[in-house]
Formats: sequence, structure tokens, C-alpha cells
Amino acid sequence: MIMRRAMLLFFVAAASVLAQGNPDWHAAFPAFRIAGNLYYVGTGDLAVYLINTPQGNILINSDFPEDLPLIKKSIEELGFKYGDTKIILISHAHGDHDAATGLIKNETGAKLMVMDADVPEEESNAPGRPGAHVDRVLHDGSTVELGGSKLVAHLTPGHTKGCTTWTMQVHDGARTLNAVIVGSPNVNPGYILAGNKNYPRIAEDYQKTFAVLKSLPCDVFLGAHGAYFGLKAKYEKMKAGSKDAFIDPDGYKAYVAEREETFRKEWDRQKQNPGSAAP
Ligand SMILES: [Zn+2]
Repeated sequence: MIMRRAMLLFFVAAASVLAQGNPDWHAAFPAFRIAGNLYYVGTGDLAVYLINTPQGNILINSDFPEDLPLIKKSIEELGFKYGDTKIILISHAHGDHDAATGLIKNETGAKLMVMDADVPEEESNAPGRPGAHVDRVLHDGSTVELGGSKLVAHLTPGHTKGCTTWTMQVHDGARTLNAVIVGSPNVNPGYILAGNKNYPRIAEDYQKTFAVLKSLPCDVFLGAHGAYFGLKAKYEKMKAGSKDAFIDPDGYKAYVAEREETFRKEWDRQKQNPGSAAP
């Protein structure tokens, strides 16, 4: 009975998370070049990044299987080949970013590389999990290189145990830009920050995440969801002729500060209300 109740609570929680998915999650969004060899091929909110190199492409995030046709279309519209995907990376092991990683592996032969602490979730066959074999286990500071491009995996845990913020230096014309793709600093509904038996270190991990995010040099501010960095508004600005629409170091700093403040308030609230979870 306890098991059945736990399963039921799990599905209720999962359903509420899905219900919160905004309509932009599965909406088409134009593919475009962000800077240098870094491109956006995601949906209206679920970000997927493509790094084009002479030795093939890297994809960051897969979105849900139902979004994969849109991603393929975006890749082809940019003049690239989906079949040239050599490496698939993720922001973190939640379905909106990784549920189709197994499909992409099967279809392209790409190698899946995942932060150590998210590997069990990635390889899990539980409902909604991709059940995808991880070809290379990453650690904090690991680098992923292909065709002259180099990405660095920064462990930014809390949202998931292996949540990863990716950085890369993008060569855009004569300038070199620091791009940061934030994994997630968010405390989801139902998250327990004080007295979490399954994840005792969760609050310390969030604190580590904010320290890491504050330490990263950032010119091009990106993230796992378009909403983190104002995808739509910046895209419109770019279409209107701005070459610097995605260069936003101040927006990045303000975003990290606001998210940290929100985390701290929720953590304080939970410490004062033992046994409570995030609303
Ligand atoms: Zn998530």
C-alpha cells in the first residue's frame, strides 16, 4: 500500500509538472545563428543548441520525442544534416531536455555524454526517462571537443544532482565571446530543500550552483529554457537588425541574482516550516 501511495503521489506530481508546461514548449520557433558556429534549433521555449564544426555537429538537449521533428526541421533549414550529429549533451536529466536522447542516438549514432550524477537518471527506463546508454561520463570541469570547438561542463547541481551549465568561447568575426548555457537554478514545485532524505545536500548544492554561476564570465547569456534569457524578445531584436541582441552580461548577472534571492527565500520558508515543499 505504501508503495502504491508513493507511486500515485509520483504520478500526481509528474502530471502537475507536465500541466505547467507552457504552450511554447512544443511550438515551432525559427532556427537561427546566435553567434559564430553556435545556433538555436529548439522550440519556442525548450532550448536546443547546435554547434557546427568541420567534423560534425554537437547538440545540447533533445527536448521530448514529440519535439524531435521540429528540431530536425530546424537543423535542415540551417543547411546542416541531422545525420551529422556526433555528440549529444544535456542541460540536466529532466524529460523536457533529455527524453529524446535515446532516439537521437539511435538515429544518428551520436555519442551521449552526461554529468556523472545524472547518469543513473539518463539510463533509467522509468516512465518519462530516456533509458539511453551514456557513452561518456563527464565530471565537473570536463571538456567536450569536436572539430576545433570546445565546451566546458560545469556542475551546477540542486535542480538535478548532475545539472550542467555549459560554457564555450564562440569566435564571431573578429571577436571572441563567452557563451553560458545555464543548466537550471530553479526550485521546482514539490522540491524539498530542508530535510530532504533522498537528496540531503540539495540546499548546499544550490548554493554551490549560485557561486559557480556568479564566477563565470558571460557575454552571450543562454539557458535550458528560452524564458531564462528572454529568447523571444532577443530574437525580435536580432530580426530588427541588432547584431548584439544575445550579448547580455548585465541580464545574466541580474538573472542569477534574482534566482538566488528566490532560492534563499524558499529555503528560509522551508526551514521555518519543517516538512513543507516548494509550492
Ligand atoms: Zn528541469
